[in-house]
Amino acid sequence: MKKFFKKTFMVFSALALVLVLAGFGLLMLSNARSFQLFGKLTDRVDTGRKVAALTFDDGPAGNTGEVLDILRDKNAKATFYVIGQSVELYPDQTRAIAARGHELGNHSYSHSRLILKSPSRVELEIEKTNELIRGAGYAGEITFRPPYGKKLVVLPWYLSRNNIETVMWDVEPDTEHAGDAGAILDYTLEKTEPGSIILLHPFGPEGSADIRALPEIIDGLREEGYSFVTVSELKKMDSEN
Ligand SMILES: [Zn+2]
Repeated sequence: MKKFFKKTFMVFSALALVLVLAGFGLLMLSNARSFQLFGKLTDRVDTGRKVAALTFDDGPAGNTGEVLDILRDKNAKATFYVIGQSVELYPDQTRAIAARGHELGNHSYSHSRLILKSPSRVELEIEKTNELIRGAGYAGEITFRPPYGKKLVVLPWYLSRNNIETVMWDVEPDTEHAGDAGAILDYTLEKTEPGSIILLHPFGPEGSADIRALPEIIDGLREEGYSFVTVSELKKMDSEN
């Protein structure tokens, strides 16, 4: 009897270990910045040219004008990954982004983690937001950035079936340095490479630091010879294409 329990315990232990490892693997997969199961994902592009894309997530918000004015003063183009619900709240700000020649990307309708969600929910999150973006007068390519960078099976499958590209990032200054404009600036200047996609959150709770850092990020990278392009312009410069 004792032997039986020992054996059962060992089998269960092994099973538990397998489940933990599988869970860990799925977590890694859902967070991967440069890989997904289906369709094209871009986190940066291979190019010899000193170009970078500034991307702003989670907008629009009441302070959209501040970001747009900095970009106008610095004569730089950027890409805004907007949330459908926020577009409904701030239609004028969304139209202003499009009217000033910036790119609009889809960052879902509700900003929920799109893992373990039904295909119909994923479809709604994407299509409703695309309609809102078109309604704001934007006519260019719309790429998708997953909320929290999370994707697993249904989301990449839906995107690839509908020819929508996933865009992540390779420079994320405010992940470690939220609220610290000086550190955001230093990190961005240090980590940006030709073809980088820079992720900022000017509309978040600590977004004022990102906004304070933005003019200096643009000036600092320009001094190093960089110019700023939108995500779809950057993708065209990929020497691997
Ligand atoms: Zn987000």
